[in-house]
Amino acid sequence: MPKVNTAIIQNLTNTSDENGYGAVVEPIVMSTTFERNREGVFPEGRDIYTRASNPNRRTLEGKLALLEGGIEAVTFASGQAATMSVFHSLGANSHVILPDDIYYGTKVLIETLYASWGMSYTAVDMTSLAAIEAAVKENTKLIWIESPSNPSLKVTDIGAVATLAKSKGILTACDNTWATPYFCKPFDFGVDLIMHSTTKYFGGHSDILGGAIIASENTPNELLAAIRNFQVLGGAVPSAQDCWLLSRSLSTFHVRMPVHGQNAIALAEYLNSHSAIEKVFYPGLTNNEGYEVSKKQMKNGFGGMLSVIIKGDEANCLKVASKLKVFKHATSLGGVESLVDHRRSAEGEHSVSPPNLLRISVGIESIDDLIADFDQALV
Ligand SMILES: *Cc1c(COP(=O)(O)O)cnc(C)c1O
Repeated sequence: MPKVNTAIIQNLTNTSDENGYGAVVEPIVMSTTFERNREGVFPEGRDIYTRASNPNRRTLEGKLALLEGGIEAVTFASGQAATMSVFHSLGANSHVILPDDIYYGTKVLIETLYASWGMSYTAVDMTSLAAIEAAVKENTKLIWIESPSNPSLKVTDIGAVATLAKSKGILTACDNTWATPYFCKPFDFGVDLIMHSTTKYFGGHSDILGGAIIASENTPNELLAAIRNFQVLGGAVPSAQDCWLLSRSLSTFHVRMPVHGQNAIALAEYLNSHSAIEKVFYPGLTNNEGYEVSKKQMKNGFGGMLSVIIKGDEANCLKVASKLKVFKHATSLGGVESLVDHRRSAEGEHSVSPPNLLRISVGIESIDDLIADFDQALV
C-alpha cells in the first residue's frame, strides 16, 4: 500500500474550528478581497486579494507539495500555464533540451509564444546521455524530462540526467503528469522542479483544468521566487472552486491510482499477445526497452497509460477506435473513465506520431469489461 500518509493530506484542510463554521469539509472562499482589522492592518496569515493568495489555493498547494515530497507548490489555471512559469523564469535567448517524444504542447509553447524571445530547443532521445550531452550549448538553461513520455512511453533515467545537468550547471524539470507521485517521485532522483497538468490524474475525473509546479528544498530560491511571481503577477491562477474540487479529488488519489496501474498492466499483457497488435508501449512489460530503468525508478507499478500500434493502416486504426464501446475516443487522460486517443489526429499535420498508433488512458472500470471491449473491436 502507498507510503504517503493520506490522513496528513486530509488534515491539511482547515480544521472545522479554524474555518469558523465547524464544517468538516473546507468551505469555498469566493471573496476576491479580505478585510483589514480596525488598526488598518492584515492579521497574521490573512489573505489580502485572491490573485495573490486564497485559502482554498493554499490548502491545495500544501497537499500537492506533500504528495511530491516537496516544500512548496505553485498552482496555475492549466498545465500549460505551469510550464510557461518555468520557461518565463529562464529569461530571453535561453536554450532548452526537450525529449524527442514529448507532450506536444510543451514544444509548441517554445515554437510560438517564446519564439520572439529568442528561445530555442533541441529535441533529443533522452534514453541516451550522450545525445543529451551533445545537445548542450552555452545558453542551455534547462533540461525538461518527461518519463514515461508521450505517446511512446520512452523511459528516461531521471537520476542520471539530473546528475549530468548538475555537473554542467543546468536546471532540470520533470513533467510528472503521467507517472504521478504514486508511481514515481522525481525529487528522489535530484530534479530541481516537478511540473503537473493537474487536469489529468490529480483531478482524476476529466472535469477540472489546472497545473502545478512543485519545488523541493534543493530548488534554487530565485527560481521558485520567479515562478511564484509569474503566478501572482501574471495571474494565471486557478479559481477557488477549482482548487476546492481538486483538493477533493486528491482525497481519493491513493485509491484510484492502484486500480489504474493494475488495469493498465493487465490490458498491456492482453494486447501484447494479440495477433492484431504490432507493438505495445508500456514500461511494465518485460520486453519494453525501458523496463529495467522503470523498475529502478518507479514503484507500486508502471502507471495507467499505454500506447499500441495496430497492424494495418490509419483507416483500420481509426475503425478500431470507433468500434470500442467502453473506451471513449477522446483526447486527454487520467480520468476514471477509459479513453483512446489517435494522436496523429489530435496533434495535426506536424505530428510525428505513427498513423496507426492509439494512446490508451486506462480507467478504473472492471478489467474484464476493458479486455472484452478490445476483444470485440480487434477482429
Ligand atoms: C495535458 C498535459 C499537459 C498540458 O496540461 P493542460 O492542463 O492541458 O494545460 C502537459 N504535459 C502532459 C504530459 C500532459 O498530459
